[in-house]
Amino acid sequence: MKRILVTGGAGFLGSHLCDKLIKEGNEVLCVDNLYTGSKSNIHHLMDDKNFEFMRHDITFPLYVEVDEIYNLACPASPVHYQFDPVQTTKTSVIGAINMLGLAKRLKIKILQASTSEVYGDPEVHPQPESYKGSVSTTGIRACYDEGKRCAETLFFDYYRQHALEIKVMRIFNTYGPKMNPNDGRVVSNFIVQALKGEDITIFGDGSQTRSFCYVDDNINGMYKIMNSKEGFTGPVNIGNPDEFTMLELAELIINLTNSKSNLVFLPLPQDDPLQRQPIIDLAKKELSWEPKIKLEEGLKKTIQYFDSII
Ligand code: NAD
Ligand code: UDP
Ligand code: UDP
Repeated sequence: MKRILVTGGAGFLGSHLCDKLIKEGNEVLCVDNLYTGSKSNIHHLMDDKNFEFMRHDITFPLYVEVDEIYNLACPASPVHYQFDPVQTTKTSVIGAINMLGLAKRLKIKILQASTSEVYGDPEVHPQPESYKGSVSTTGIRACYDEGKRCAETLFFDYYRQHALEIKVMRIFNTYGPKMNPNDGRVVSNFIVQALKGEDITIFGDGSQTRSFCYVDDNINGMYKIMNSKEGFTGPVNIGNPDEFTMLELAELIINLTNSKSNLVFLPLPQDDPLQRQPIIDLAKKELSWEPKIKLEEGLKKTIQYFDSII
């Protein structure tokens, strides 16, 4: 039995990961400052003898004894990471240094939840891991994008300088149950608006694209990366290559919810990427991983969840 640290464990992806790790027979130490996460996501685990919650901000040092680290702590929705951008960069950069220092002291494996945002507004489409990205250093998304890029740099420098075993995962847009209804990301916004009969807020003309991965596929990929062969560091893309425009997404959600909501068009936020689609050949080859759940099927499960909580 391993004792595994999950930072950001009370968030959307982190809480699903805690479930998976407990189910696989591990002990989980969930560390979270509850900035965007919530105790309700892990409520069902609180009485489990193999689960422990610690309220802590990873920009401060953390001295615990564990066997593995999944570093997920960081707000992921533009609305939230732009609310306190300096704290966002601190969480990615200082948080990574602290978690890498912890991994170095204990000589243990550490996984970083990186992001497709390291590609910025990509000029290469779809995106392979070898693409170096097109990121603004001064725009409103930079606190997240550049923070995550610097965290990757730190991971690879600890790997080279201290022979630390690292695993770097680049996550593309992921959705599913336990997203916060006020999260602000497109899938949760559209579903909540459709269910409440409110206007569906399309930013720009809705022609921008994203490729959406269902949470269970993501978590299976994350687990496979952590348990991949020694020396496999990544970075590796984990996402679903099926690409949709935001207009297509809105129409699909309206159909699946039988909603009477209207579409309204609002200004496109600054630096909003026009397109995004992962190449997942590396994950297929190294991890025998590929997503199994189609958008329509995943949306149905997510709609059911939001219907039960709002
Ligand atoms: P989320 O906002 O639901 O979860 C993030 C969690 O981190 C929250 O519980 C929050 O309270 C916690 N947190 C934030 N700052 C912290 C700090 N300083 N110390 C301790 N805890 C802190 O977001 P999510 O979608 O679950 O994302 C999890 C990770 O995956 C993030 O690192 C994110 O960048 C990455 N990611 C997610 C997606 C996606 O589509 N969901 C895509 C790319 C990358
Ligand atoms: N650190 C931590 N927990 C540990 C070990 C280290 O939080 O168990 C933090 C510590 O605050 C330090 C950082 O990780 O600043 C980086 O540690 P490292 O050993 O790489 O660097 P140094 O301590 O030499 O600055
Ligand atoms: N978006 C939208 N309406 C919303 C929320 C988001 O049209 O209510 C758009 C947003 O401008 C972006 C896409 O949907 O082009 C995905 O946004 P999200 O915040 O989910 O993720 P990210 O931009 O980080 O990929």
